[in-house]
Amino acid sequence: MSGGNVAVITGGAKGIGRAIALRLAKDGFDIAVNYRSSSSKVRELVDEIENGGGRAAAIQGDVSIFEEAKSIIKKTVDTFGRIDVLVNNAGITRDGLILRMKESDFDKVIEVNLKGTFNCIRHVSPVMLRQRSGKIINISSVSGIAGNAGQVNYSAAKAGIIGITKSTARELASRGINVNAVAPGFIKTDMTANLSDKVKENILHTIPLKRFGTVYDVANAVSFLASHDSDYITGQVIKIDGGMVM
Ligand code: NAD
Repeated sequence: MSGGNVAVITGGAKGIGRAIALRLAKDGFDIAVNYRSSSSKVRELVDEIENGGGRAAAIQGDVSIFEEAKSIIKKTVDTFGRIDVLVNNAGITRDGLILRMKESDFDKVIEVNLKGTFNCIRHVSPVMLRQRSGKIINISSVSGIAGNAGQVNYSAAKAGIIGITKSTARELASRGINVNAVAPGFIKTDMTANLSDKVKENILHTIPLKRFGTVYDVANAVSFLASHDSDYITGQVIKIDGGMVM
């Protein structure tokens, strides 16, 4: 896509979201980077995009709160005039076995990952409908497809995101809006940094391509889904997992 197109990335200050922001900036998008609290990290990212000749803005807001999601979308439109791509990337984990999982840990993961995705799509839809074009890309997980012990909350949220993806794709297709999801496997970020070496070794054995994923592996797929090269693809879930789940 050429300059003048606008992408908003939720939770974009670090990890996968940061890589997506940099990649879409390179692809020519103006970038609205949503962040909840890490303002120094987001400033660095905005500077990096601007130093590379791109346009970027940091937009604070908690996606799990309906009115804040509304303001993230509104501020993006106020700043850049339109929204061509929404990447629902913001996510958290609160892992634990079902026998011990606290109700608050279940609720929090659903609120950020699943409700946050709903909130942002709910508010971006009128903008994209007016434009009669847009791409919505949701970050799910292979945990939402295959399940994962210790992640009932997270896998429920990520499976729910697949449901949202497919239903929204059906609702919005006739108006030129594509809705797809990516389902990463094990990607090296802060989210996975605290897993023990033993757990990481066990996961590695389950990956046919014999390596963990990088943030760039995810950003490459998102770049494709944000581009016109994917115009005939909607309602799909692309796994980025080295073949872990087939
Ligand atoms: P990360 O912890 O580095 O990044 C998550 C980002 O979301 C952070 O910037 C955080 O501040 C932001 N965030 C959290 N709650 C928020 C809220 N309420 N409002 C706005 N922003 C909020 O993790 P990551 O690995 O980069 O994860 C990015 C996405 O990829 C998440 O949706 C995650 O579930 C998904 N994912 C990651 C992996 C992996 O292996 N790392 C695998 C599959 C899916």
